[in-house]
Amino acid sequence: MVTVEKIEKSDADWKKLLTKKQYEITTKKGTESPGTCPLDTSHEPGIFQCVRCRTDLFRSSSKFESGTGWPSYYEPISPLNVVEQPDMSLGIQRTEVLCARCDSHLGHVFDDGPPPTGKRYCMNGLALKFVSKDQL
Ligand SMILES: [Zn+2]
Repeated sequence: MVTVEKIEKSDADWKKLLTKKQYEITTKKGTESPGTCPLDTSHEPGIFQCVRCRTDLFRSSSKFESGTGWPSYYEPISPLNVVEQPDMSLGIQRTEVLCARCDSHLGHVFDDGPPPTGKRYCMNGLALKFVSKDQL
């Protein structure tokens, strides 16, 4: 296990490093339109990383078809790589998922996922970077 070093950058710095959409989602807790992310339907073997800091977040083997239009996973690569916190922003209680290293907003986790965990990590594809097995 490697100690995760926090990355802290200002809003302005992230704005320079990311596309407008990526910035809105990861920094302003935005949500991409469902079905717009090519990663949603991809099942190529590999790893999904944080688009901001390249922390490994999800394995393609934990990805499943949720039918929501967002890439969905039943577990993160390591619980240490993500932070889960209560989110009451829409007046309903949800659990927000953030990158543990750079605090990037990734999406939400719900309790209606498939076995073995029963969890559904509903992610914004724009917050992720896919690295295929051949590139690892
Ligand atoms: Zn990150």
